Amino acid sequence: MKQTKIFYISEKTESEPLDEASKILSQGGTVAFPTETVYGLGANALDEKAVLKIFEAKGRPADNPLIVHVASRDDCRSLVREIPEKASILMDEFWPGPLTIIMERSEIVPDVTTGGLDTVAIRIPENKIAIELIKRSGIPLAAPSANLSGKPSPTSADHVIEDLSGKIDAVVDAGEVIIGLESTVIDLTSDIPAILRPGKIIKEELEEYIGEVRIAYDDKVHPESEIVRSPGMKYTHYSPQAGVILVEGEHSAVVRKIKELLADLNMRDARVGLMLTEESAPFFLGFNSFSIGPREKPEHAAKYLFFGLRNLDSKNVDTIIVDGSFNSAGIGMAVFNRVRKAADMIIKVR
Ligand code: AMP
Ligand code: MG
Repeated sequence: MKQTKIFYISEKTESEPLDEASKILSQGGTVAFPTETVYGLGANALDEKAVLKIFEAKGRPADNPLIVHVASRDDCRSLVREIPEKASILMDEFWPGPLTIIMERSEIVPDVTTGGLDTVAIRIPENKIAIELIKRSGIPLAAPSANLSGKPSPTSADHVIEDLSGKIDAVVDAGEVIIGLESTVIDLTSDIPAILRPGKIIKEELEEYIGEVRIAYDDKVHPESEIVRSPGMKYTHYSPQAGVILVEGEHSAVVRKIKELLADLNMRDARVGLMLTEESAPFFLGFNSFSIGPREKPEHAAKYLFFGLRNLDSKNVDTIIVDGSFNSAGIGMAVFNRVRKAADMIIKVR
């Protein structure tokens, strides 16, 4: 067990703790830090030993590649064979920001960082602290979300401590993140660019700049059937301790279904936590619940999804029911993607 240092950052104290944190990184250590999406667990992307520490701390499968965070487009050049035209256009438009671009890697990027692939995932985060840390350490930082593998991603330094205290060298605490969901990942090495993970930046936005983009992630949802996935077929992704039931569909039908589920779970003495839209909350007064905001504001659900899963988990509930009546437009699509992966059961209602 290590002693995990915590560096608190405020407007005044910015410089010194950041210098210390970057020193740990440049010497091959692991430091968690905020980005605009979620907290990342950083280490020198070009140092095999340092990167292995990330996998070890998170308990992450070795074939799951990491995103490399850089501070400028210049930093990016040495990591790839070439910057394709479409990548260059996307960088102009969306960097710094929550878009990760996959390109062919150069020889300096080690296998551990890319999970043995010939490609590397890169982005410039839009967060002053993150950029400063990369600049001061003088290295590209491999940084997956700073949670235990399989758990909800961390949106505050407290979440990082919860999962990784004693397993990493330090955490830079600069408050809550802004977006709350991980970056959009786009692969530019196939003929038609492919979105591997949805995020705040959506397909249509990307298509405006580079033409056709295809969706290459799987939500494991089959709209024909009511119960899409059964308990036991659990993904280990974004998952709290409690079982998660997602109820998707039109608002009043979702409310009705949640009432039914509550009655049923109540008979079995289950402790239940609810993640509710603002519109649904009045129907469930007195229940243990967490608000994911108005149905028409999926950016609020994005910011509080992981937070809410952790919050309800800390209340030791057995089951979390998520109200899936919020709008799936824009970042809403990415919220559904994460919560579907977290869910043990998805119920579609009409
Ligand atoms: P996270 O651990 O949350 O930062 O997730 C990183 C995501 O980027 C994972 O979904 C990875 O599978 C994906 N990723 C990173 N590098 C590559 C790559 N070279 N090819 C395909 N996917 C990648
Ligand atoms: Mg992750």
